Amino acid sequence: MKGSRTKNGRRRGQTIVFLLLALTILVFAFLWNVDLHRLVSGKISAQDAGDAAAIGAARWQGETLNLIGNLNLVHGLAAASGDDAAIDAITQMQARICFTGPLAGLVVAQIAAKNNRIYQNDDFTDLLKKHAEEVRRYDQGVGDGIIFPEPFEGAWDEYAGMLDAIVADGLAAAPDNALFFGDATGGHILLEKDFYEAVAGREWCWFYLNTATSLEPPRTLLDDFVSYETFGPLPAPDPPRYENSEIFGVGVHAVDFGGAVPIGAGDGGGWNKTSGAWYYYSSSMWSSPWPGMNQEEADPLPMAGQVKPEYDYAGADAVVRLYFRTYRMTSQGKEDDIVWTAAAKPFGSLDGEDGVRVPPHTFGMVLPAFRDVRLIPIDAATSGGDGSFDVEWRRHTDEHLPVYLDCGRLEDGCRYCSLIKRFEEASFRNAGIAWLRKNHEQCTRPPPGGGGGRGGGSRRGH
Ligand SMILES: [Zn+2]
Repeated sequence: MKGSRTKNGRRRGQTIVFLLLALTILVFAFLWNVDLHRLVSGKISAQDAGDAAAIGAARWQGETLNLIGNLNLVHGLAAASGDDAAIDAITQMQARICFTGPLAGLVVAQIAAKNNRIYQNDDFTDLLKKHAEEVRRYDQGVGDGIIFPEPFEGAWDEYAGMLDAIVADGLAAAPDNALFFGDATGGHILLEKDFYEAVAGREWCWFYLNTATSLEPPRTLLDDFVSYETFGPLPAPDPPRYENSEIFGVGVHAVDFGGAVPIGAGDGGGWNKTSGAWYYYSSSMWSSPWPGMNQEEADPLPMAGQVKPEYDYAGADAVVRLYFRTYRMTSQGKEDDIVWTAAAKPFGSLDGEDGVRVPPHTFGMVLPAFRDVRLIPIDAATSGGDGSFDVEWRRHTDEHLPVYLDCGRLEDGCRYCSLIKRFEEASFRNAGIAWLRKNHEQCTRPPPGGGGGRGGGSRRGH
């Protein structure tokens, strides 16, 4: 009797343990489901918010161009009646619209993101705040003392003031294709993200294809590296012009036919303060091919057919980056940041000869032509790969690289710095040298048309 009671008791004990275990699994499964649901709905929110923000910003780019175009037409009327004061006022207004229009787009992007449950991001906000301070010093020189001439009087203070107003509400959707005047533009291997990816993934072929000084026998940067000095100094910033907002710029510039000197020529390319300029499309932005869209390119985007000629132009576009933060219930509230980047572009066309629709920049001068906005693939957007608001990358290029190239010191805790450290290790480079000596014939560029990726999606990942 006594024995069986003990047996029963043990059985009951086992049952309770089993029940507790089952309950734990059930609760865990439930929480995991909640997490999964949060992740999925977070991803959808981030996508909606990013798309809406990019479209909002691109719509303002289109409106800005239309406004500048309309003022060109009014300029024509004023010129016909010889009204110099009106012409001066019109030109001044156009110069301001090149900055206020795109920044209105930035405000609209914030509203779109916040309406889709995306909150302000401290890193983004700090970065823009810091940049506003830089803009205020543009006419005093930044970095190596380069001075950026003002496109109109008081431009930098006015522009910095607008940035401050946006910062005050917090930045949720960052302008990821912003081109700050002080940014060094490419031309250095340590400014290429591909270098770091190649080190991380031990992609020896990348070194063979991009840094070879001899193909047979293979000799690459892996052989040539001696110290941080091997990399050489960072290139100086090379801003195209100062007439366009750095954020969601519309790619226009003023041409002065009245005076002998076109605006932008002369010392450093500044505004020469004469009136009577007309606004034209910058050919560097508008006449360059739309990346990835030409199927003759080495690595085009996967798509059916060619782009219609009236839509086949690069020019202004808006790329937005945002993060959606979600908390996991299964890992003690661990946070996941879902990053989403989206791009959109204003489209329009003009009547050409015989009623044929032609791209808006066909006649050079800016005319009101933009009626449409579309999402475009990230890889087809301008400077889509740079990620101006990829905060970790920017911290590395702005703060760590100048120090490293000056004295060889790398920053602890930075992913990119730790990859440089790995590259510096002789054992790492020797492994690559040995591999290339045997296998360099395997290193070939991807064949054309092998882009892969989802249709209309991104190859660089969102
Ligand atoms: Zn770093």
